[in-house]
Amino acid sequence: MTQPTSRTRVAIVGGGPAGLMLSHLLHVAGIESVVLDTRTAEEIEATHRAGILERDSVRLLAESGVSGRVLAEGHEHQGIELRFAGTSHRIDFQRLVGASCWLYPQTEVFLDLHRARVRDGGDLRYGVASTEVIEVLDRARVRYTDLDGLRHEVVADLVVGADGSRSATRALVDPRRQYTREYPFAWFGVLVEAPPSAPELIYTRAPSGFALISRRTDTVQRMYFQCAPDEDADAWSDDRIWSELQTRLAGDDGFRLQEGPVLERTVLPFRSFVQTPMRHGRLMLAGDAAHTVPPTGAKGLNLALADVRVLAECVERALLRGDDAALDTYTDRAVARVWRAQHFSYWMTTMLHRLPGATDFDEQRQLGELTSLVSSEAGSTYLAEGYTGWPQ
Ligand SMILES: Cc1cc2nc3c(=O)[nH]c(=O)nc-3n(C[C@H](O)[C@H](O)[C@H](O)COP(=O)(O)OP(=O)(O)OC[C@H]3O[C@@H](n4cnc5c(N)ncnc54)[C@H](O)[C@@H]3O)c2cc1C
Repeated sequence: MTQPTSRTRVAIVGGGPAGLMLSHLLHVAGIESVVLDTRTAEEIEATHRAGILERDSVRLLAESGVSGRVLAEGHEHQGIELRFAGTSHRIDFQRLVGASCWLYPQTEVFLDLHRARVRDGGDLRYGVASTEVIEVLDRARVRYTDLDGLRHEVVADLVVGADGSRSATRALVDPRRQYTREYPFAWFGVLVEAPPSAPELIYTRAPSGFALISRRTDTVQRMYFQCAPDEDADAWSDDRIWSELQTRLAGDDGFRLQEGPVLERTVLPFRSFVQTPMRHGRLMLAGDAAHTVPPTGAKGLNLALADVRVLAECVERALLRGDDAALDTYTDRAVARVWRAQHFSYWMTTMLHRLPGATDFDEQRQLGELTSLVSSEAGSTYLAEGYTGWPQ
């Protein structure tokens, strides 16, 4: 039985970075919203995911009033190392494009957004169950079950599906077109207790496959290496993991990773996915609900934030100025960036990973591509532009 009904301007399904940032931007514009999430805030805070923020994502967090903590506590990275054939090549973002990116874990981004919404009196309903969008054409209606088992209904002018890569709301978009690409590999991700091995991220292509060395804090580091999608993470001892990583990073320069206990190990399958349009009636999609990218380009979280920046403008024009046509512009404005990011993520992935069954020709061609990239100002600039983020 459905009990209380509440009224708001925008009902947001999903309180991850996309949902919370949208709720914050709408609040700044004077538009109230309700955020519904089936996980608790504590669960989300403890889930390790993205780590790299583009320049404009950092600005959005700092300048929209969420928090300046990213600037004080995040690590500015002015470049990355590309490592192949046993040698490192630095891509100097500042010299090439005058921009940086910031290493600031998604857990901290979530914490900042959540604190900002609590500070500003946001209506956040975490830990609810059975969310269901039941109407999206004339008005929006969403139902959910609260912690006491009571069914609620939220009536709104608009509903936003920000419910992540397994989105249920995207099934309501009609007609929809989905574009998907699967990859025949996954990432073996580890969180290790060890000092940093390098000041910047190292993207490595080795004969046995890709590896990424990233940092979290002075004592905890995040590393990944390419594996089969059906790899059993529990079958890997700490020694075996370190041996695999050291082999992929080895080179004539004698580089060695700093080792320590493995705190967490997971196999992360990934794919490229886009669904269009990102709007149907009073329903709008944002973030991973509408698109996912392989993590190699570090674009997922950044795209989610870029979506809601555009969406907040469209919603503001529609709800505060009666310009409903603004909602029609959302898909085209958001999706242009999505496809650029899809290409960038695909390009980084295919350039650095070993395809199962790759021939000698494939190996040499891949090395030729990497050599062209690092020895060409234009090639390096292309990577630097994409990685730090195209201006919004
Ligand atoms: C291992 C890994 C590494 C990554 N690295 C990077 C990186 O370096 N840089 C980068 O930019 N991106 C990266 N990403 C991608 C990034 O984490 C995502 O793109 C980002 O979380 C998208 O934010 P979102 O708010 O759209 O979705 P999510 O963060 O998935 O949030 C969706 C929310 O919706 C909730 N939800 C789901 N279903 C329902 C429902 N039915 N009702 C109510 N709530 C629901 C979920 O509980 C969740 O809190 C990485 C991802 C992974 C997995």
